[in-house]
Amino acid sequence: MVKFQSPTGMRDLLEEDFKHFQKIERVCQEIARFYGFKRIETPILEESALFEKGTGFSTEIVKKQMFNLETKGGDHLVLRPEGTPSIVRAYLEKGMESLPKPVKLWHFGPFFRHERPQAGRYRQFYQAGLESLGSDSWIIDSQIIQIFYNILKSLGFKNLIVEINSIGDSQHRAYYKKNLVSYLKDYRNSLCSDCKRRLRENPLRILDCKQEKCQKIIRDGTPQIIDYLCRKCNNHFKNVLETLEELEISYKLNPYLVRGLDYYTRTVFEIFEETEPTFLPTKATSDVAKAGARDTESEEEKNQEPLALAGGGRYDDLVKLLGGKETPACGGALGVDRIVNLIKKRTKKTRKIIKHRIFLAQIGKFPKMKALKLMEKFRKSEIKIAEALDKDSLSSQLKLADKLKAEYVLILGQKETLEEKIILRNMKTGKQKIIAIKKIVGEVKKKTK
Ligand code: ATP
Ligand code: MG
Repeated sequence: MVKFQSPTGMRDLLEEDFKHFQKIERVCQEIARFYGFKRIETPILEESALFEKGTGFSTEIVKKQMFNLETKGGDHLVLRPEGTPSIVRAYLEKGMESLPKPVKLWHFGPFFRHERPQAGRYRQFYQAGLESLGSDSWIIDSQIIQIFYNILKSLGFKNLIVEINSIGDSQHRAYYKKNLVSYLKDYRNSLCSDCKRRLRENPLRILDCKQEKCQKIIRDGTPQIIDYLCRKCNNHFKNVLETLEELEISYKLNPYLVRGLDYYTRTVFEIFEETEPTFLPTKATSDVAKAGARDTESEEEKNQEPLALAGGGRYDDLVKLLGGKETPACGGALGVDRIVNLIKKRTKKTRKIIKHRIFLAQIGKFPKMKALKLMEKFRKSEIKIAEALDKDSLSSQLKLADKLKAEYVLILGQKETLEEKIILRNMKTGKQKIIAIKKIVGEVKKKTK
């Protein structure tokens, strides 16, 4: 018999994951709303052309990572690989151009990229994104970074670092690209095969290639984009950095950060959690640490490059490129799955059973029916109550109530059900009394106040 599995790089999310996803969504919603961002949810499928044009033909996402499909009607659609082009499409389609600027939108949902699966990198993953459309002010870039930073802080991340760079506007970037290509041409044969291709198609991306041989060439004197910025872009960047200092947000200039998408202009950023060793291991402690680490971290995870928790930047040309008026904009996205993985690692040891103060037990066919009906009354009164309706023996139900640390158990027997009554037992004292069913919700409310 064939065993079915979820598609490569795609996961089932169970309650223990989902509760974190929901918490992150809630924190994003509270903070985004406070800053005046309105929720938007765009379709999972979009026209392929939107990303080919918006994200860019030569980007890794469009070249290698899109899940394409053709509809019965012959439309070419893709599972959305990122959020920004969809939001710009909706902004234009829904006439948001006429709204007061900046138009601020936030979203939360799944995205799809055909990547090589590894820890923290999935083919279906979730992002929470923010987009602010219509202002070219540096304060917006700072605000976007501040919001992502604060969302992560609220989720308990302590050692955050923003890596930041400016890639200038498209005009000056073209000049830089030329210089970069002419410099790297001499090293062509030493670059990895991807970078050989990038040299023709997307030379900027070479700067953040992860291959060691490329890294060495890049760090050995490649011209830096920051030296090619015009005065305006330079001032813009300086103001963003000064604001981050004022906001006490830790940042690090990373002259090689380019983020690989065609539409970015000026500020680009990524946010990481810095992992600091808490002690210098001696031989003995390092052996212990290694043995301990093996339980929680795979070899692959340990050798992995640090993964960004969020990334984004300014995209002043995208709205126009997709058919709108010239509209400077800035935004970014949080990688929800990666955040969940880190939160789970952090909270693993403190997992405890969820207490239920009330347990409803029953003995027999009619009591079962009555119990099912009674549950609804408790739900409407917002009183949490546990049950084991499928169980028949009272002792196994009481055992479970004990496990859940229930303070009170309600017992519906045949006799009580016939008399429209129910037993209320205090689990601590063992005392019990018989109460009319119609009064039980009120009684429990009083007791559990
Ligand atoms: P990376 O450099 O890690 O590939 P990216 O630049 O491709 O990231 P963005 O498009 O900026 O990613 O997406 C924003 C965030 O979404 C990332 O910082 C990351 O946290 C998360 N993310 C991106 N791709 C994936 C993936 N395949 N699986 C899980 N999370 C992802
Ligand atoms: Mg990527």
